[in-house]
Amino acid sequence: MRIAFIGLGNMGGPMANNLARAGYELALFDLDSNKVEAVQAAGAAAANQAILAAATAAEAASGADIAFTSLPNPKIIEAVALSDEGILGALPRGAVWIDLSTNNLECESRIRAAAAAREIDFLDAPVTGGIEGAAAGTLMIMVGGDAQVFARCKPILEKIGNRVMHLGPHGAGYVAKIAQVVLCYLNSVALSEALMLGVKGGVPAHIMLGIIQGSTGASYVADRYGPAILDGSYDPGFALGLAHKDMALTLELARSVGATLPMCEQVEAIYKKAVDQYGFHQNHLMAVKLLEEQNGT
Ligand code: NAD
Repeated sequence: MRIAFIGLGNMGGPMANNLARAGYELALFDLDSNKVEAVQAAGAAAANQAILAAATAAEAASGADIAFTSLPNPKIIEAVALSDEGILGALPRGAVWIDLSTNNLECESRIRAAAAAREIDFLDAPVTGGIEGAAAGTLMIMVGGDAQVFARCKPILEKIGNRVMHLGPHGAGYVAKIAQVVLCYLNSVALSEALMLGVKGGVPAHIMLGIIQGSTGASYVADRYGPAILDGSYDPGFALGLAHKDMALTLELARSVGATLPMCEQVEAIYKKAVDQYGFHQNHLMAVKLLEEQNGT
C-alpha cells in the first residue's frame, strides 16, 4: 500500500507521521520543504523506513493507491487536484483521493467530477481535534462518499483518527465539519464577551474564567482556550486566516442550503476584521484580542 500525502502543515504533518509509524510506504509533497523534511525525519526514526520527498504533488501521487490532502482552502485544493503538476493526472485508475481539508460543496462537486472522469474515487473526510488530536491519532474524521470505498479506506483512516464516521453521500463530511466548527468561533467570541463583561465589572479575569468553567456556560472552548486568552499566549495551532475561512465557508453553506444565521454573520465580520488588522498567519484567538482592544481590557 503506497500513500501520497500533500500538505504537511499543523495538521497534515502529524497525520503523515502517524501513517509512517503504521508502516505505510509514503510519498510526500508540500510547497515548504522544511515541512517535508520534518515528516521524513520523524517517520524514518519511528518506522525505520525511507520516505520519498516528491518534487511535485503529481510525483507524490504517481503510483499511489491513496492520496491524502490537507490544504488551506478550496482554491488551493482545486489547483493541487487539477493543475499540470496536480494529483488527478498522476494517480492510477482505481486509486482513492481522500481530502482531509475543510472545504466547500462547490469545490467538492468539481473535484469529484474530475476524479470520476479519471476513474478515481473521492472521499471528503475533514477532521476535528486540533493539532493535539492530529499528533495523538485521536481525530474525529467525518466522511462523505461511497460506502464501499469508505469501508476499504476505514482501516487506514483509523491510523489518524479514533472516531471515523461515514455520514452519507459526497459532501456530507464537509457539511458536518462546517456546521460543527462554527461553534468553536461563536464560543470563542461569546467567552471573550463574558470574560470582558466580568472584568469590566470588577471581577478578576482568572476568577471569572473559573466561574464560567463551573457554570451552565462551561465549554471545551472555555477549558482549552480560556487559560491561553488569560495569559496572552493565545493558541498557535491554528491560523486566524483559516478560522476566517471556516466562517466564510459557513456563510456560503448557509446561503446554499437557505439557512439564516445572524450570529454567524456577526462573528464572520469579527474574524475578517481581525485578519485585516493582525494578518492571516496570526493565531485564531487574535479575534478575541481585537474585542479586548476595543474594550480596553
Ligand atoms: P497549515 O497552514 O498549517 O498547513 C497547510 C500546508 O499546506 C502548509 O504546510 C503549506 O505549505 C501547504 N500548502 C499550501 N499550498 C500548497 C500547495 N499548492 N501544494 C502543496 N502544499 C501546499 O494548515 P493546517 O492548520 O494544517 O490546516 C490544514 C487544513 O485542515 C485546513 O483546511 C484547515 O481548515 C483544516 N483543519 C485545521 C485544524 C487545526 O487545528 N489546525 C483543525 C481541523 C481542520
